[in-house]
Amino acid sequence: MLRDGHGRKVNYLRVSVTQRCNFRCQYCMPEKPFSWVPKENLLSFEELFLFIKICIDEGVDKIRITGGEPLLRNGLSGFIKMISDYKSGLDIALTTNGYLLSDLAQELKDAGLIRINVSLDTLRHDVAKKIAGKDVLTKVLDGISRAQEVGLGVKINNVPLKHVNSDEIIEILEYCKKRDMSIRFIEYMENRYAKDKIQGMSEEEIKKVIATKYKFVEIKRESSSPSKLYELENGYQFGIINPHAHDFCEDCNRIRLTAEGVLIPCLYFEEAMNIKKAVQNGNIIEATKILKEVLKNKPEKNRWSTDENNEISNRAFYETGG
Ligand code: SAM
Ligand code: SF4
Repeated sequence: MLRDGHGRKVNYLRVSVTQRCNFRCQYCMPEKPFSWVPKENLLSFEELFLFIKICIDEGVDKIRITGGEPLLRNGLSGFIKMISDYKSGLDIALTTNGYLLSDLAQELKDAGLIRINVSLDTLRHDVAKKIAGKDVLTKVLDGISRAQEVGLGVKINNVPLKHVNSDEIIEILEYCKKRDMSIRFIEYMENRYAKDKIQGMSEEEIKKVIATKYKFVEIKRESSSPSKLYELENGYQFGIINPHAHDFCEDCNRIRLTAEGVLIPCLYFEEAMNIKKAVQNGNIIEATKILKEVLKNKPEKNRWSTDENNEISNRAFYETGG
């Protein structure tokens, strides 16, 4: 079992397979991303898999594929199959914007994918266009339906933004409730790639809106989950991720690998090490050494906070995969 320098168990690896994306979400990516990595700089699936195997052998049992938009990378289902064939019982999940999901859901499921998180910020076509930069909603909703049809576990991620989609919180909660899908509202995390003037909603503000229609109580969160959990009177559960409170850092169990081989101990910080050379040389000893070094230096908590120094993270969500 892997442990970090603060004694926390680490069993969760998030792997970004590309930083490219077919959306330009206001809170994530500038209209013209300035740091596109040339394709030849990406690790191949075989190279990523070599590192994933090391992590699994060391006790990682939860793997999430993300991006950029992971469904843009050709051969993704084959990559998922490599992982699921390596060891049974792994929890293999994917985070996607859903645009290409409808055609791929069945093959992803057949490859061994278990769960999927789809980002759905709005149910209105004009608002979707405003957030993502193009008219995406119909395809995203089709993707969600198809993923449910083929038997993938589907959760929705939603980033409420003031004056953009903040008036849809109840509508979208009810959309998910009706379809028996969980939803996680995520507080907007400030970063220097987001559009100027974006204003996220705080956990308290989100709860206040939901309380105008529903009674709910906080229930125990799943261990190592960043999401606080709430339950409506009828038993439906929803979550809110509040990184500004850092509550979840104390049992953080995750590390992140980018498509270029950068191994990141904390989403907020730029500190990281690169495993690229090691995996390209097939050097398992060196890659394991880097993994342990990164874990040793994993920060105790992130620094998203509204009251401490007004910090802004330099980490791009489209690189780290959120
Ligand atoms: N493209 C995929 C998607 O959108 O689901 C996967 C990558 S995206 C970076 C992963 C998650 O990060 C999405 O749910 C997205 O809403 C969230 N995200 C991106 N930028 C964010 C920000 N500044 N604050 C909070 N969440 C953010
Ligand atoms: Fe693309 Fe996901 Fe970022 Fe939106 S949040 S720009 S879909 S990577």
